[in-house]
Amino acid sequence: MQVDELLARAANGGRLDLAEGIFLYENADLNALGAAADHRRQMLHPDGVVTYIIDRNVNYTNICVTRCKFCNFYTPPGAADGYVLSRETLAEKFRETESLGGVQILLQGGLNPALDLAYYEDLFRWTKQNFKLALHALSPTEIIHIAELADLPIREVLIRLRAAGMDSLPGGGAEILDDEIRTRISPFKNTADEWLSVMREAHDLGMKTTATMVFGFQESSEQLLLHMDRLRRLQDDTHGFTAFITWPFQAEGTRLKLRDDTSPLRYLRIQALARLYLDNIPNLQVSWPTLGPEIGEVALRFGANDFGSIMIEENVVSTAGAHFMMTSAQVETHIRLAGFAPARRNMRYDRLPIAADLPRGPA
Ligand code: SF4
Repeated sequence: MQVDELLARAANGGRLDLAEGIFLYENADLNALGAAADHRRQMLHPDGVVTYIIDRNVNYTNICVTRCKFCNFYTPPGAADGYVLSRETLAEKFRETESLGGVQILLQGGLNPALDLAYYEDLFRWTKQNFKLALHALSPTEIIHIAELADLPIREVLIRLRAAGMDSLPGGGAEILDDEIRTRISPFKNTADEWLSVMREAHDLGMKTTATMVFGFQESSEQLLLHMDRLRRLQDDTHGFTAFITWPFQAEGTRLKLRDDTSPLRYLRIQALARLYLDNIPNLQVSWPTLGPEIGEVALRFGANDFGSIMIEENVVSTAGAHFMMTSAQVETHIRLAGFAPARRNMRYDRLPIAADLPRGPA
């Protein structure tokens, strides 16, 4: 195999097979990989626009039975610091989100055995009755947990949650879609196939979802590429993923020691390769909350076309050591500094107007 030939093919939209993806990951020069990914990004998004969304990550409960070793957010049932956010607190957060021009709530939490399907149906109905916010809610892991509590098939749970107001499903809980790694870092969590099958059901019902990957768990090149390959195969069948987002494992305060390369350079390598390998997922989002806005700017030249969310609130990665926050004006500044024009979007990547009368915050 020749690196140059493979990069030229992938940069122009040609498909890489698994062995070729692994070969490029292990052998391509980082800048050459980035240039190929940038070319591919330009083909897919030729208008020089980089999008972002104003939404709020609301973690409605931190109580969880799953005890993932990489997680510093959860607390077990019965612990003194456990919480479930009240309707009053949620209403305040949702109102604030709307006043900042937010269009969506990213609603995620632990696997709390006290919250059943009826709790979520009530919560979603109440949200829709009182706010004009889209609900990008739960994760395959939470859906599996709710279905198990209700003793209902995944499909029925998704249908009921959608009827109650759920708009789309975030791709949380994927980490690395490889059961050897999952057994090591989160032995009580769903398998790779279970995660993919929830996504397939959601897509079959016409629901849009996102795909994620967390690296830094001593995964091999093959495990990394197989993760992308599984996403790509599902996307070939369903076309339900709107975007892919990858970020490095944040170890601070977790029970898992960091024994892997989670540097910005590895992030850029993985993201560029993802742009080339995931030829059927239209959007790639940078992960500035974990790496900082400057790396976010660079990542826009390594295949990404979206700056993610302004992150009004984020508890999970910030508990484990990621502490970056930005206003929409700051996000737009970084997008411009990277040479692009900013535009707001919703979860489906429809462009939204940037209203001049909305509070923008200091640059
Ligand atoms: S990652 Fe999610 S499922 Fe795992 S312990 Fe944390 S909150 Fe629970």
